[in-house]
Amino acid sequence: MKSKQLNRNEIESLPKVELHLHLDCCLSFDVVSMLRPGTTWEDYQEDFIGAAKYKDLANFLKIIDNSLELMQSEEGLRLVTEDLFQQLKKDNVIYTEIRFSPLLHLQQGLTPEDVVRIVEETVSRSVEETGVEARVILCTLRHYTKEQSMTTVQLVEKFQGSRVAALDIGADEAGFPIDAHISAFRYARERGIPCTAHAGEARGPESVWETLEHFKPTRIGHGVRSIEDPQLLEELKKKNIHLEVCPTCNIQIDVFDTYTDHPIAGLYNAGVSVGINTDTRTITNISLSDEYEKLHQVFGWSIEHFLQCNRGALAAAFLLEPQKQALEKKLMTND
Ligand SMILES: [Zn+2]
Repeated sequence: MKSKQLNRNEIESLPKVELHLHLDCCLSFDVVSMLRPGTTWEDYQEDFIGAAKYKDLANFLKIIDNSLELMQSEEGLRLVTEDLFQQLKKDNVIYTEIRFSPLLHLQQGLTPEDVVRIVEETVSRSVEETGVEARVILCTLRHYTKEQSMTTVQLVEKFQGSRVAALDIGADEAGFPIDAHISAFRYARERGIPCTAHAGEARGPESVWETLEHFKPTRIGHGVRSIEDPQLLEELKKKNIHLEVCPTCNIQIDVFDTYTDHPIAGLYNAGVSVGINTDTRTITNISLSDEYEKLHQVFGWSIEHFLQCNRGALAAAFLLEPQKQALEKKLMTND
């Protein structure tokens, strides 16, 4: 049976949950123009929007430096955060988790605490102004030292009770092993700090197994190559691990050749909890509504598919139960 054709307005107005979103990869032309006066549309495309294909994750990550350069001051961090909320509102995102690495913003004298405080306060204010509910995830990076990872998790600890909710690890999983970060994730676990971790994107199922074993997160960023291992799919279901899937970004860094080759539908059909995310709105040049539209066109996904993904994402969100229930009501009433 063919599902009902959805038009752009219907897709935009669907309430959405977006858990996997990097603050330093989502700068609109407007905010770049403010922070780097004189930037033309051509400059913006050249310096901020990524190529359609990269040969791997490591190459893709280099373009982020241009955004980071503009996010070293209080003003830069504040404007970029506010700008992202405007984008989220346009996509009718009702709940988001925004992630970034505090230690990447220290080049002009801000301390790690300043950076987290500035972003957290701006997120709080933006939630009030836009109605988009949000939490913040702090990321350590694969190439970081043990000390840098510990500093990052201790920042999450220091800001517990604010909108800062969890720890993540990002960057190049193929180039750097997990060893230096095991103690930070143990530290988080011992203190009840929730965790997610990037894995199964630049490397295969073995990376997801390793991440589950040593970091014990409740969610995996991407995890899409789990599709190669039926036993792993069973493990994900058994442990109720949610996959934060970002289809277009995966195509861009060549995890899969074309959108049709993406395993999101296979993962969904196998009964794994998957959510839909943009990951890097600017670098990938995509909004969340664009991503839904592609899933609708390529895999015939309907409102029911989107609702199931959003409910799965909400169930895995780093929120308390009553907060989840209030948002679930918002999801269910808009059909
Ligand atoms: Zn990511």
